Amino acid sequence: MKPVAFDYYRPENLADAVQVLQSSPQAKILAGGQSLIPMMNFRLMRPETLLDITGLTELDYVERTDRGLRIGALTRHQNLHMSKLVHEHFPVLAEAAGEIGHWAIRNRGTLGGSLTHADPASELPAAMVALHADIEIASSDGTRTVPAEEFFLGFLTTDLGPNELVTGIEVPVSDTSQFGFSEFARRPGDFALAGAFVELHGTDRGAVTWFGVSGGPERRETRFPQNRQEREAVFIDLTQTFDPLDEPEYKRRLAVTVAEDAYQNAAGRLD
Ligand SMILES: Cc1cc2nc3c(=O)[nH]c(=O)nc-3n(C[C@H](O)[C@H](O)[C@H](O)COP(=O)(O)OP(=O)(O)OC[C@H]3O[C@@H](n4cnc5c(N)ncnc54)[C@H](O)[C@@H]3O)c2cc1C
Repeated sequence: MKPVAFDYYRPENLADAVQVLQSSPQAKILAGGQSLIPMMNFRLMRPETLLDITGLTELDYVERTDRGLRIGALTRHQNLHMSKLVHEHFPVLAEAAGEIGHWAIRNRGTLGGSLTHADPASELPAAMVALHADIEIASSDGTRTVPAEEFFLGFLTTDLGPNELVTGIEVPVSDTSQFGFSEFARRPGDFALAGAFVELHGTDRGAVTWFGVSGGPERRETRFPQNRQEREAVFIDLTQTFDPLDEPEYKRRLAVTVAEDAYQNAAGRLD
């Protein structure tokens, strides 16, 4: 299938992009195209205007700040996976980015596209919630920042307005937390059937953030008993607090398994 006809703009800088969004708020932003183009080809989306932001090199960066790391919206999944800074400060983010699709997808797909598309089975939205990231947004009204936990509103739905675009994220570095990650997919390259990030303060307090189990990232603060059976009982209770989109019993069992794996991964990083 081919998409319906559309107008095409390729701005040279962020100010131009914001200008186009102001005059055409119905315009669809094209970043990596790995979700948008298939939907247009299937005619599930019929945007009249495409705003191709791939020339905005100012949105392609990973940099250290006083608070943590800032990562531009046009950072490709593969660059997130390979970045030395990301490996050093947020190894779970590098690991999770490496699990997205195949090489070809990771070489094109971008952080901003993944966050805005908000597929419930995507790694990066859940990573941002787990890591307490802030999402940076620009429009003709200026800029604003939203905590990731407030940005994701449900299945393919975010807090982003029609004339806004995601410019990047900032992730705070924590001296007191360790993170772990795990996911389960049928085959390498498939979307995960379930995945989890675990945050540990010490060995017994923290949070689990699941993805692939319901309409969006699910973060739950909890205590982690030292005994594995008791810990799994805690995970079972937590899975009752979200509504799986399909196969609820299977999803809940997977959610417990990936949470335990992610816990072991985080515990292995404690001193
Ligand atoms: C075969 C296949 C397997 C995949 N497997 C996985 C997987 O395992 N895990 C996973 O997470 N993803 C997976 N993906 C999706 C992939 O990660 C996409 O790259 C991602 O979902 C969208 O990023 P993109 O840059 O390609 O965005 P695009 O497709 O260009 O855009 C997606 C949406 O975001 C909007 N948008 C893009 N950038 C911005 C921005 N900066 N500001 C505001 N709006 C913006 C677009 O308008 C559009 O609505 C897979 C895709 C394919 C085709």
